[in-house]
Amino acid sequence: MRPFSYERPTSLADAIARLAQLGADARPLAGGTDLIIRLRDRTLEPGLVVDVKRILELDDGIRETETGRTIGARTTMTTIAADPGIRREHLALAEAAAVVGSVQIRNRATLAGNICNASPAADTLPALLVDDAVVLVVGPAGERRIPIDGVLVRSGVTTLAVGELVTAIELPRPLRPRGTVHVRRTRRRGHDLASVTLACAVDDAGVTRIAYGSLGPRPWLVRDDTGALADPAVPDDAKRARLLELFTAASPSATSLRAGPDYRVAMLDVLGLRAVHLAIARLADA
Ligand SMILES: Cc1cc2nc3c(=O)[nH]c(=O)nc-3n(C[C@H](O)[C@H](O)[C@H](O)COP(=O)(O)OP(=O)(O)OC[C@H]3O[C@@H](n4cnc5c(N)ncnc54)[C@H](O)[C@@H]3O)c2cc1C
Repeated sequence: MRPFSYERPTSLADAIARLAQLGADARPLAGGTDLIIRLRDRTLEPGLVVDVKRILELDDGIRETETGRTIGARTTMTTIAADPGIRREHLALAEAAAVVGSVQIRNRATLAGNICNASPAADTLPALLVDDAVVLVVGPAGERRIPIDGVLVRSGVTTLAVGELVTAIELPRPLRPRGTVHVRRTRRRGHDLASVTLACAVDDAGVTRIAYGSLGPRPWLVRDDTGALADPAVPDDAKRARLLELFTAASPSATSLRAGPDYRVAMLDVLGLRAVHLAIARLADA
């Protein structure tokens, strides 16, 4: 690990000023569950690490608003997985947060860090895509609100500018009754990054939204407006055919250690169908 300076500002303005001053040589730290590993393996070598955990303006909880819910940038996976409001209206996100790493990891790892690390295998990203999450960002040029789809570029790369910090994530209240679910495939039980990670929402108007990750440079969102996926009477063969039409962007790396590309694509099909069935069942109970 290259030696670096460490600062722990208590105000957002101070943190942004320091990050902007040092540019690409500074890096924010939240839970550190991704960043510390990258410092240790020297894939990142910043001169300054700015710890955001003491910044008073960054919430470490979830607030209900008129339009939905706002998750502060210091909120951990443990808090999200257990939150009754998130479980009621955004169950796929709660389920995704609940499978990140281990208890120890979830007690530190933040949703903001999962987004900013931008791993194609990040478990919360499919649920955030399905939920139309909006990422609130503050930087030297002011505030921005970016739909999650517009944040993700590829592994480790987002559209955040140098000096910008995520302050919160907004989840709009779902407009219609729906069933949502997160499913994933890992090589083994216990903590492991996903070979396929997928979230699905089926609403009472027959619209199905599916987002899937670990099958290319970033997770993708697709939607089915034909009603074929949401209709319990449509047979599995027809549903599978529709899923294949939707999953055209799947392009898993041939060099990944966790699973071969053919296996990932085959599992995407299997998990997609499983998720649709679960989401339909949950919609019926909603
Ligand atoms: C053993 C282990 C198992 C894991 N298992 C999983 C898993 O199953 N699923 C999964 O999705 N992930 C997994 N992870 C990855 C990791 O835990 C998550 O990505 C986590 O959510 C990162 O959050 P963090 O708060 O620790 O981020 P950090 O490590 O602090 O930061 C991650 C990145 O985001 C940036 N950043 C952090 N906060 C902000 C902010 N507010 N504004 C701007 N940039 C910011 C940092 O500069 C860094 O680039 C695992 C990690 C480990 C070590």
